[in-house]
Amino acid sequence: MKLDEYRKKRQFAATPEPRGADHARKGNQSLIYAVQKHMASRLHYDLRLEWDGVLLSWAVPKGPSLDPSVKRLAMQTEDHPVEYSSFEGVIPAGQYGAGTVMLWDRGTWQPENDDVDTSLQKGEIMFTLQGEKLQGAWVLVRIRGYGKVPDKSAWLLIKHRDQYASAKDVTQEEPRSVASRRLLAEIARDKGGDIERASQGDPPGKTTIAKPVPGRIVRRKRPS
Ligand code: MN
Repeated sequence: MKLDEYRKKRQFAATPEPRGADHARKGNQSLIYAVQKHMASRLHYDLRLEWDGVLLSWAVPKGPSLDPSVKRLAMQTEDHPVEYSSFEGVIPAGQYGAGTVMLWDRGTWQPENDDVDTSLQKGEIMFTLQGEKLQGAWVLVRIRGYGKVPDKSAWLLIKHRDQYASAKDVTQEEPRSVASRRLLAEIARDKGGDIERASQGDPPGKTTIAKPVPGRIVRRKRPS
């Protein structure tokens, strides 16, 4: 039931994304955390936190910041299946969320308060991350949204002050996949996506796949 909206939006014959199974809440096992960098109609970072058999999801247009004085808008989106946490690839043109998806970070998370449902209702979730790129204490706080219309889906993602807080621009300095070390353009190349479009989400000058370095033998297979 929780995945109805997720499944309604997608045609699983056409997209490589998982349909997902229904999972019961896992006892005392660690909860999955993931961030997917998604070059869709606009670039964003999808924050996913496992809770009650699904991945709670927020789209963060500018991505996370390690600076506690920086608040990043995070729009809550439909719950995703747990299987989605390892997805990396290309959603074909014409499909929901069409574009290139990179597994940008992964690990586990712990809510400060065990009653996450109440935290969701109250609009404040304090948690710690044990990821490969993001660690330490974070908070998600619901805001009223922008403009006249109250928007229950608008939240802010903020780093708490701790040893992991930093002025480092983590999205720019660590642009590669934690699963494959690829940039967005490289994922698009390997999966038959739009390389040019995907490269717009990579830091400028990072993508070198179009031109082999002179004098070096390039053994990489051509994209088919
Ligand atoms: Mn997305």
